[in-house]
Amino acid sequence: MTITVSKEDYLKAVAEAEAEGNPVISATLAHWLAVTRPAVTAALKRLKKDGMVTVKSDGRILLTSQGRQVAEQIIFRHHLIERMLSEIFDMPWYEIHEEAERLEHAVSPAFEKKLVEKLGNNDICPHGNSLALRSPAARRKKGQRLLSEAEEGFQYRVASVYERDRKLLDFFEGEGIRPGVQLTIQTRNYDGTVTLAVEKRAIRLGAPAAERIWVEKA
Ligand SMILES: [Zn+2]
Ligand SMILES: [Zn+2]
Repeated sequence: MTITVSKEDYLKAVAEAEAEGNPVISATLAHWLAVTRPAVTAALKRLKKDGMVTVKSDGRILLTSQGRQVAEQIIFRHHLIERMLSEIFDMPWYEIHEEAERLEHAVSPAFEKKLVEKLGNNDICPHGNSLALRSPAARRKKGQRLLSEAEEGFQYRVASVYERDRKLLDFFEGEGIRPGVQLTIQTRNYDGTVTLAVEKRAIRLGAPAAERIWVEKA
């Protein structure tokens, strides 16, 4: 069971790091999954043997179509679990990611079917993320941009937020920033921060936070 979980986690990490536009090498995975380099090497050996990944001569790790299928299925299940926790159990949106990280591995095909029946086939999770819009390029094509690049004087709607940082989500919640919320860019400041109006409150946001939020014109 432990081996299966870590295998799924590795494949998901490759898919997610790739979707963020990073070249995926074993150091990326060690950092992403907080494991040692030898652990990554051992896992990659198994995944290669199973036909889930290939490793290029320059060290880049690529998913095979089979590996991608497993990764996308686990991401889909992750989103379903988050929706279940949020929509059925009313768990706060900023608390559900860690729970889904654990539960996603326990979802059987039969339970997945039940969840889809209950929740509908919509893949957008409570953080605004979906399988269809994972890469920055795909998001930009849909008219989304990072909040750090939003234009002064315009009103935007929060499309999605980066969900793998619990402290950041708590911070966003405290500032009233969550998917669906409308905000206006008041000024872009010389120190790289932006001043926003969120529900009539002015907030100054630094680049590390503003680069974690995708917005679209409201
Ligand atoms: Zn999540
Ligand atoms: Zn999510």
